[in-house]
Formats: sequence, structure tokens, C-alpha cells
Amino acid sequence: MRSFMLRKSMLYGCSGALLGAIYAFLAVYVFNPAVGGNLEKVHLFLAPFMVGALAYLLGRHAEVLEKAKRRFSDLTHQVITERHWEVGFEDSYVPTCWKVKKCENTGCPVYGKHHLRCWLIAGTFCRGEVQGHFAQKLGSCAKCEIYQTAMAHGPVAEIGENFNNLMWVLREKEDMLSDAHNELKGQYKELEQLHKVAKEMADTDGLTGLKNHGHFQHHLKNEIDRAARYNRVFSLVMIDLDNFKFVNDEFGHQKGDAVLRHVGQLLKNEIRDTDYAARYGGEEFVIVMPEVDGPEATEAADRLRRKLERLYKKVDLPEYQTAASFGVADFPVCATGSNSLIAAADGALLFAKRQGRNRVAYFRDLSTAELSNDDLDKLNSRLGGAGFQTIQVLAAAVDARDSYPESARNALSRLAAGMAQKLDFKQDQIEALTLAIKLHDIGKIGVPSRVLQKKEKLLPEEMALLRQHPEMGKRILQEAAQIRDLIAAVLYHHERWDGKGYPDGLSGVQIPLMARMVGIIDAYRAMLSDRPYRKALTVEEAVAELEKGAGSQFDPSLVEIFIQQIRDDEEKKLPRAV
Ligand code: GH3
Ligand code: MG
Ligand code: MG
Repeated sequence: MRSFMLRKSMLYGCSGALLGAIYAFLAVYVFNPAVGGNLEKVHLFLAPFMVGALAYLLGRHAEVLEKAKRRFSDLTHQVITERHWEVGFEDSYVPTCWKVKKCENTGCPVYGKHHLRCWLIAGTFCRGEVQGHFAQKLGSCAKCEIYQTAMAHGPVAEIGENFNNLMWVLREKEDMLSDAHNELKGQYKELEQLHKVAKEMADTDGLTGLKNHGHFQHHLKNEIDRAARYNRVFSLVMIDLDNFKFVNDEFGHQKGDAVLRHVGQLLKNEIRDTDYAARYGGEEFVIVMPEVDGPEATEAADRLRRKLERLYKKVDLPEYQTAASFGVADFPVCATGSNSLIAAADGALLFAKRQGRNRVAYFRDLSTAELSNDDLDKLNSRLGGAGFQTIQVLAAAVDARDSYPESARNALSRLAAGMAQKLDFKQDQIEALTLAIKLHDIGKIGVPSRVLQKKEKLLPEEMALLRQHPEMGKRILQEAAQIRDLIAAVLYHHERWDGKGYPDGLSGVQIPLMARMVGIIDAYRAMLSDRPYRKALTVEEAVAELEKGAGSQFDPSLVEIFIQQIRDDEEKKLPRAV
């Protein structure tokens, strides 16, 4: 189409040239009397001239149109494919812009000249502005403004100008959008800032400026996830100010608040950049120390303890009125869950208090500490709802205290499971039994170490203390709803078949089955280890001892099954429970 138009304009041009040549020939022929020419034949001269001129004009016009069309299509293409509005028809196509001329009150000097043009411009635009409405005012020409084009109107100019106006509006819209976008960006930043402030406020304790309890719980869970994923260690330190109630009662709550604020400041100043401190609640604080194990954390806590001890000067209190006790537990040594880690640190803190306050205790210190019934009650009420994992933490502490190796514990669990299978236990019952084996001595946490670790034979009163451990075990397990079933096994594992055991002197089948099983397994374990009053027995000697006790100490049918299980394990050369 385009080449056709081109050819057409060339055709017009050529025809114009040809006619020009004919015209030259005619000029000679018409005006030269020598060849019979005269003025009457002038029409012969004019006609081809007119036709030639017309052909030329048409050709020219077609060419201009063609060029404008090509430009239009190039520009449109650019706009659509590149989304680029900085384009437009050049001035050679388009009048620069309407010019403004002011008319005075009466008589419009340019009225006649511009009347028509003013009507023409009605409904057109210039640089994005509507201009047409001035045409109406033109009639009276009172205080009107007249717009005048710099160039004559034509179809190309009109299309070009409309195109340019369109681009103008697009650019304007784009600028507006970009302004709005920038404004929105500013507002978003402001909102973000506000959100940050609000979040900071929600996570922060108002009095001390430390993170609060909620944030700590969240942080601890994250820390556990991180440490578990990358096989790392970290410590949790719990701090409880000593006799703080006394400070409040004696010196007033404002003084108490001032102490808490100073403690918060001290923690902020003294901990490492990578450590994390929070107010756990009341006069209790926590520190999370990544990459630090229990003994290291205990040292760090002791440095803090000494600083806290001296804080009394700053808050104008008598000596030692700002002391605190510290409990330390580390992941994954003491516990692997957030609740149980808190419980372990809390347990250690309780020991620190019990041992005289203003000191640091590591959860592993529990193995040499003594717990009173009062302590146990306190611990239980604090652990309330912490659940099964906490109980396991305590069981681990008992094991650590007994220095009973993991391999032996596994061998015992295997024996118990084998025995349960022979009794046709279901899977969940087997699991309950192996759990009972693990937990049956949990109450020993409340038996003084001097009794537990005494090499000589126990005195009667020491024996009485030791004999309390099933009761204590029961009290601990009562706190964990999931393992209440095991309470009977724990409570009655020292009952005897002949009714001479403790705590209730039950006999025969009165003793719950699982307790009878745990009793046999526990006795077997004791036989295989050194005792203050005798050396460890061999497996054969232990088996003989079990047979001797069948019917008096133990349920005879269970003993038979158990011995069979021991022999099975011996035959398979599996590790022994020592
Ligand atoms: P212990 O050495 O056994 O920890 O004794 P204690 O007196 O510190 O412990 P107790 O739990 O009996 O008392 C804690 C006190 O802390 C009681 C409570 O009024 C006070 N307390 C808790 N929160 C705030 C607080 O925000 N401001 C003030 N001033 N006192 C608080
Ligand atoms: Mg407290
Ligand atoms: Mg306190």
C-alpha cells in the first residue's frame, strides 16, 4: 500500500513533468506567429498548464500524506511497543501552539480575520489544554481571548497535533502517577516506621526497657530451632531478685521500681551483643546466651551476680539489698524444648535460693543438691502444665545423679519390652512400661545426696528418707497429665509379693502389674551394680537371686518370664544392663 502510494505520487510528479514539456512545446507553438500561433489559442496553452499544475499539487499532497502516515505509524509503534511517551510530530507537521491574543472591551480588531479560525479551533487542544470554549465568547468579543495558530490548518497538522496532545496528556498522567507513587511510598515508609514503633512497644517492658515475657517466649523458640538445626549449644539463665518483697515493704514500691530499672540497665550494659535479655515477669529476668554452654554461662552469670550485688549503692539502699539468685540450664544438655528448658533453669534457680540465695546454680548441680518436700511442691507448682518433657528432664537429672550409663538403661528398656511382649502387651502398654522404667526413680530427686551416694550401710533414718522416693515420684508425675497412668507403677515399684514392701504394704495381685514388673527390673538392675555393702553380681548370680526372691519379693510367674527374657538376650549376646 505504502509503495503503491509512493508510486502514485511519483506518477503524479512525472505526469507533471511531462505536461510541463508539452506546455513548453505549446508555448512555442501558440505564441510563435511563424508557426501560425496567436493569442486566441491561449486556452490551448492554459489548459495543459492547469492540468499539469493540478497533477503536481496532487502528487505533492499525496507525498506529504504518505510521509505523515509513515511517521504516525512509526510513532504509534514506538508508543505501543516501548511504552514511551516522549515522542511527537515535529513542527514541520504541526503548528507550534496556539497563540493568545487579548481583545479589548469593544470591537475586536482581529474579529473578521479570526472569526472563522476561532470556530475551527473549537474542541481542539494545545499542550493538553482544551481551547475550544473560547470560540463561543468570540461572538460578542467582549474581554475574550483569541487563539491563533502559527501555521495553517490541514489534515496532517490536525492529526499530528491531536497525537501530540494525546502524548502530552499521557505524559502528564504518568507524572501524576509517579507523584502519587512517590507519595504512597513516603506514606508506606511512615506506616512501616509506625508499625515498627508499635511492635517495639508491644515487645518491650515499659519499666525496664528490656524485651518482655511474650517476646522472650518467641525468641527462645527461635533459638531452640536454630540450635537444633545447626547442632549448636546455648544457655538460658533465669534471675530472681532476692528478698525483693522486703525492698518494696521497707523502702516503698518506687524504690522497688528504681531497682528493677537499674537491673534492666545493668543487664543491657553487661551482656554480650549476641546475648538477649528480657524481663520474665515481676522481679525475674532471663538471659539467652547463644554458643555458650552451661559451665561458661554459670561463670558469666556469676560475674553478673557480683555486679548486681553492688548495685545497692546506685539506688541508695543498704548493702546486699539488690542481690539475686541465678539458675542456668543449657540446650541440649538439660532439655530440648522451650518449656522444659525454662523448667530446668527454674529448677536450678530454686536450688540457688534454697542453698542460701545470692548465688548461681547450674541445672546439673541438682544432682548434688537436696530437695525438701517444700521445694518439690514449689517446683511442681511452677512446672504445672509444663508437661511430659519437663518430667523427662527431671528423670535425666536423676539418671545423671545415679551415674547410670545410657547403654545399661537401654538394655533395661529392651528387657522390659521383651517381657511385655511375652505377656501379650499392646504397643501402647509396652511404651508405658519402658517409660515407667525410665521414670520410676524420679522421686529420688528429693532424696539427699548424702543418702543416695553413701557408701556405707544406711542408718534407719536415712533409709526412711530413701523410702520416700516413690511418694515423691508420684507427686511429680501428678503434674503431667499424659503420664498419670504411670503413677501406680512408680508409686508401687517397691511393694513386695509377700506384702512386706512400701509404701502401702500391698501384696500379690493387689500390686498393679506394671509396678510388679518395674520392681523386678529395678531389682535386677541393682543386683548388677556395685552396692555399698556388696560387689555387683554376675548375670547368673542375679538370675539365682531373682529365683530366690520369687514368691516372696517378686511375682513368681513374672520372674520366670523375665529370666527367660534375660536368657534370650544372653543367647543373642546383646549388651547387658550394667
Ligand atoms: P525470694 O528471695 O525468695 O525471691 O524473695 P522475694 O521477696 O524476692 O520473692 P517474692 O516472690 O515473695 O516477692 C516478689 C516481689 O516482687 C513481690 C512483688 O510485689 C514484687 N514485684 C513484682 N513486680 C514488681 C514491680 O514491677 N515493681 C515493684 N516495685 N515490685 C514488684
Ligand atoms: Mg520471684
Ligand atoms: Mg525474688
